[in-house]
Amino acid sequence: MIRLQNIEKVYRTNTIQTLALNSINLDIEKGEFLSVMGPSGCGKSTLLNIMGLLDVPSGGTINIDGQSTISFSDKELAKFRNQKLGFIFQSYHLINDLPVLDNVEVPLLYRNSTAKERKTLATAALEKVGLSNRMKHFPTQLSGGQRQRVAIARAIVGKPEVILADEPTGNLDSAMGNEIMDILLQLNRDDGTTIVMVTHDEFMAQKTHRLVRLFDGSQVQ
Ligand code: ADP
Ligand code: ADP
Repeated sequence: MIRLQNIEKVYRTNTIQTLALNSINLDIEKGEFLSVMGPSGCGKSTLLNIMGLLDVPSGGTINIDGQSTISFSDKELAKFRNQKLGFIFQSYHLINDLPVLDNVEVPLLYRNSTAKERKTLATAALEKVGLSNRMKHFPTQLSGGQRQRVAIARAIVGKPEVILADEPTGNLDSAMGNEIMDILLQLNRDDGTTIVMVTHDEFMAQKTHRLVRLFDGSQVQ
């Protein structure tokens, strides 16, 4: 589903160069649930951003769902990302002055769907995460766990093949974190969605199919 070959990432500022990823080779199967761990600054977010086509590598090739994305224009990348990938972040990244339902509809605004179709799909996504009774609430009226469930609904509303999650339980207590993890496990098991999750939590990582560890930009496991 995702094939990374010899991925390098160098960040350059005026005076410093940082090798954030050093020759990463990774094959992620369709339907796999992979977790990525490692100390702060080891390159986890950089790796996820490169897989998510939010950032470009300094070297190496990326193949997602049989397509090499390295020669895509920005417009092609945005379209591919919108159709194939769903993102979940530690800090939710919801739009606080839009109601829950409208937040979930956002990814569909970049597709040719009618208002009615958007509403139907967003409602179904919210039902899937158990929040159909909060559609008219605003994000600030929800708990952290509920906000993350809205973010998951937004990530899945376009039926992506891959979900990329950057510490999705990092801001939550263990009960809410477990709820979020259960939803991700269910999406993986029932819908076959491929998931890559960055986490600091060994307990969460153990629930996934495979664990990759990074250290100083290199894969050590
Ligand atoms: P992690 O997610 O594991 O904490 P990151 O991928 O965020 O690690 O960062 C990896 C390395 O790259 C770190 O040394 C970090 O300081 C550096 N880095 C990350 N983003 C940038 C950036 N935009 N500019 C310069 N250096 C960066
Ligand atoms: P952190 O792990 O520090 O809380 P986040 O998980 O919020 O960071 O975000 C991870 C990365 O994704 C950041 O580099 C951020 O700039 C980027 N990002 C966050 N939200 C979006 C978004 N909606 N679209 C594109 N990139 C985003």
